[in-house]
Amino acid sequence: MSVQSAKPRRHQVVIIGSGFGGLAAAKSLRRADVDVTLIAKTTHHLFQPLLYQVATGILSEGEIAPSTRVILRKQKNAAVLLGEVTGIDLAAKTVTSKLINMETVTPYDSLIVAAGAQQSYFGNDHFATYAPGMKTIDDALELRGRIVGAFEAAEVTNSQAERDRRMTFVVVGAGPTGVELAGQIAEIADRTLEGAFHNIDPRDCRVILLDAAPAVLPPMGEKLGLKAQRQLESMGVEIQLNAMVTNVDYMGITVKEKDGTERRIECACKVWSAGVQASPLGKLIAEQSDGTTTDRAGRVVVEPDLTVKGHPNVFVVGDMMSVPNVPGMAQGAIQGSHYATKLIKAGLKGEDDPATRKPFKYFDKGSMATVSRFNAVCQIRKFEFGGFIAWLAWLALHLFYLVGYKSRVTTTFSWFITFLGRSRGQMAITERWIYGRIAMEQLKKESDALEAPPLASGDGAAPPVEVIKQSQAAG
Ligand SMILES: Cc1cc2nc3c(=O)[nH]c(=O)nc-3n(C[C@H](O)[C@H](O)[C@H](O)COP(=O)(O)OP(=O)(O)OC[C@H]3O[C@@H](n4cnc5c(N)ncnc54)[C@H](O)[C@@H]3O)c2cc1C
Repeated sequence: MSVQSAKPRRHQVVIIGSGFGGLAAAKSLRRADVDVTLIAKTTHHLFQPLLYQVATGILSEGEIAPSTRVILRKQKNAAVLLGEVTGIDLAAKTVTSKLINMETVTPYDSLIVAAGAQQSYFGNDHFATYAPGMKTIDDALELRGRIVGAFEAAEVTNSQAERDRRMTFVVVGAGPTGVELAGQIAEIADRTLEGAFHNIDPRDCRVILLDAAPAVLPPMGEKLGLKAQRQLESMGVEIQLNAMVTNVDYMGITVKEKDGTERRIECACKVWSAGVQASPLGKLIAEQSDGTTTDRAGRVVVEPDLTVKGHPNVFVVGDMMSVPNVPGMAQGAIQGSHYATKLIKAGLKGEDDPATRKPFKYFDKGSMATVSRFNAVCQIRKFEFGGFIAWLAWLALHLFYLVGYKSRVTTTFSWFITFLGRSRGQMAITERWIYGRIAMEQLKKESDALEAPPLASGDGAAPPVEVIKQSQAAG
């Protein structure tokens, strides 16, 4: 056990997560008289809205996932700790995180939990092996491998049925991510890969976007949903609505129609963008509070000041919070974090009374989705529009929010190459990206067995856990 630093103790703020909420919280505390420890299980800050462009070869992973440590290196009051948070003790005011076999216990005075959400398969987690989601860099690279790999396999096979299966792409979930992915797979086939094969014409591929709901882009309303649908159909994307996926396997998917009949779609490449489930840390916190609950998606039903009952120093923000009329979007996470840090800073000056806090108020800046090159749909309050202007607005907004000057420059350059020409700069794939998930699952099984009691692990040779207790976060 080691004790880190012996400097006089300042107010300790622990932030869980380096996504939109976590990073915004850390940055807004840069001038505050506090020590910040940001704990996250990845080394990067991920700009999720552009993940689909990594999956479809437009951008590299580095452009949308800068190192959190490097972003915060000039912020002297902030320390970054890599590790997966496995425990939060609201009574002891500590957060436990784990990296390999090292367990770190970090005390806090204020806690901001921004651990986001993960893909939900609605109780069918085994679907993930065949239909990866779109939540992480690993997901995006795996999907790129599967898209390009499907065309390569179609080129090689002699069987027409297998060629058809390889050239059928199914995107499950017609929300913004599904729409963007379906549009981009169609564009890869039509523009980037056209003429690059001898035995197949990539333009013959089928791209199917399906959803159990009766509309495309339901949160954006009927008008924009229909606009996006028509644009996708004009690109050859098949839209199948009222179609619920009941099974996913290696060979394809099974779909149940509204009338109860089931049908198969034989397809090699499937993507899941149909639902989200908040981080399990939400449940962990709610269970220790004085009566806070979680909703069906695992989000914490926070108090009007984004805290949990009985713990005015514990804030839950972003995709983990359940607040009426606040969507799971980047703006909600950023605004929630700014609200929480404002209260923390007021508390330092003795100006925060939890009993009289003004409730969190969300300012809706609108939502957008790209459908194809030069075409997007956009909703800003009562204004709804689509087409080229919406697409330009989408480009400008995403560039504005991308972290880092270098990322903005290289992203602009990559967009020029893709949108004005036919090529994409990031079409490389590797076998490891495609099969890494299966290997990781196997590795996890083996490591779980190692950490099991000595009898189960054979010779009892599990690596010892090193426990690190932090007395102070940063200085
Ligand atoms: C593909 C996709 C496209 C999107 N497009 C848009 C868009 O166009 N516009 C928009 O506004 N929003 C969009 N969103 C939603 C937006 O990205 C989220 O609402 C936002 O990221 C939520 O921020 P957050 O901080 O709550 O969580 P996240 O940004 O997801 O960050 C969660 C962080 O917590 C870390 N973490 C999780 N569990 C643990 C743990 N146990 N221990 C340690 N660290 C942990 C993660 O590594 C990550 O750093 C999109 C999301 C996706 C997936």
